[in-house]
Amino acid sequence: MVDMRLTDEQLELQSLVREYSREVLKPIVAECDRKSQSDPAGCFPLDALKAASKLGLRTLGLPKELGGRDIDTLTHCILLEEVMAVDPGFAATFHQVWRLAQHIGREGTEEQKKKFLIPFAEDDTCLISIGQTEPESGTDNTFPYRGVDGGIKLSAVKQGGEWVLNGTKHFVACASLARIFIVLGRTDPHAPAPDGATQFLMWGDTPGFRIGRTHDKLGGALLMNAELILENVRVPESDILMGVNEGFSDKARHYGRGAPMVATFGLGTARGAYEAALSYARETSRRGKPLIQNDAIAMRLADMLMLIEATRSAIWRAAWAVDNREYYLQRDSAIASYFSTVCARSVCENAMQIFGKDGYTRKFPAEKFLRDALMTNHINNTVDVRLLKIGRSLAGELVSSL
Ligand SMILES: Cc1cc2nc3c(=O)[nH]c(=O)nc-3n(C[C@H](O)[C@H](O)[C@H](O)COP(=O)(O)OP(=O)(O)OC[C@H]3O[C@@H](n4cnc5c(N)ncnc54)[C@H](O)[C@@H]3O)c2cc1C
Repeated sequence: MVDMRLTDEQLELQSLVREYSREVLKPIVAECDRKSQSDPAGCFPLDALKAASKLGLRTLGLPKELGGRDIDTLTHCILLEEVMAVDPGFAATFHQVWRLAQHIGREGTEEQKKKFLIPFAEDDTCLISIGQTEPESGTDNTFPYRGVDGGIKLSAVKQGGEWVLNGTKHFVACASLARIFIVLGRTDPHAPAPDGATQFLMWGDTPGFRIGRTHDKLGGALLMNAELILENVRVPESDILMGVNEGFSDKARHYGRGAPMVATFGLGTARGAYEAALSYARETSRRGKPLIQNDAIAMRLADMLMLIEATRSAIWRAAWAVDNREYYLQRDSAIASYFSTVCARSVCENAMQIFGKDGYTRKFPAEKFLRDALMTNHINNTVDVRLLKIGRSLAGELVSSL
């Protein structure tokens, strides 16, 4: 049986997140984006994050006993779409805290939950980051490489009851603002990275840990990607998340939850651009009639809507399957995340066209959505790697378990 009705809780949260996004975020994001062009590290609207915390939105991924809702994958996607449709960079901040608080809540020890999640819940600007990518290893971590010469290099060496970490991460989402970090270190340099990496939990004020430059990106400005620099950072054994060398295990990869969530980046971005173009086409007249009454414009909008609806179906199906594991197929998730990027690029470009010359200016949101859409080419897996995973699965090869 296929039942596409949302639950009462999903509907309640969807309406709360939609209202927050439209009332709190929408009025400020264009200005923040402009500011990011001269000050990428200083453009984040902290007051908007505080407002989200007040509504309980920042902590939706926390376990219920810590005041969260422990939202499932489908709910994550439904809610994320609402924020993405307003600002993909800020929305991705929610994606990070929801999934990472949930990750610590589900996989962490009681001591780790006390040490990290209780302060996280109490501090209304506290964010969590995960540092995996390094200057010389990105795809190696998402399209696993079995050679010992590839994968992450940040070294983690055991000394007594502590691990000493040295190395650099980059492009880490929310890093400029986050207080809690999960850092992947190479604990066994003689094993391929998928079998020799470990997740370490740490606070941002741990001695030897610092944030480097904030990346000056084309889009997604409010995601605040930055470098992490670790110089002789000492982490107690008790702050290892899961076990030693389990940094890329199935549970470390959230049992495949990430792909449909990340696919929602493209869906929400496309929806934001589509809604802006639809309003413009209804409100702007040429030759005495609204633009939308020209068939060429109406057909362009129809094409955009069709892609959005198809993408949402693919994502919800993949998300539902992740939540109902007996139906899970990695290929469905790869299809959803590849297709959502195709959708975002096409819809955002069409939106710019509907705005005409105005779309090519910063006065209207179309150009920003197109810049934000290009972010989806790189998040988690690159768009090419998603297609590769689909292709390899057709060739009968299991690329990774997730
Ligand atoms: C907005 C944004 C947010 C991000 N957030 C985070 C974060 O929070 N934490 C984090 O750790 N990282 C983050 N990243 C980094 C992201 O995970 C990497 O960009 C991604 O994994 C790809 O790695 P790379 O960019 O280093 O590409 P590379 O691995 O250098 O690849 C370069 C090109 O070669 C292709 N390629 C590489 N290897 C292969 C192969 N074996 N087969 C076929 N093609 C291949 C790739 O598809 C790509 O086109 C973020 C990046 C962006 C842009």
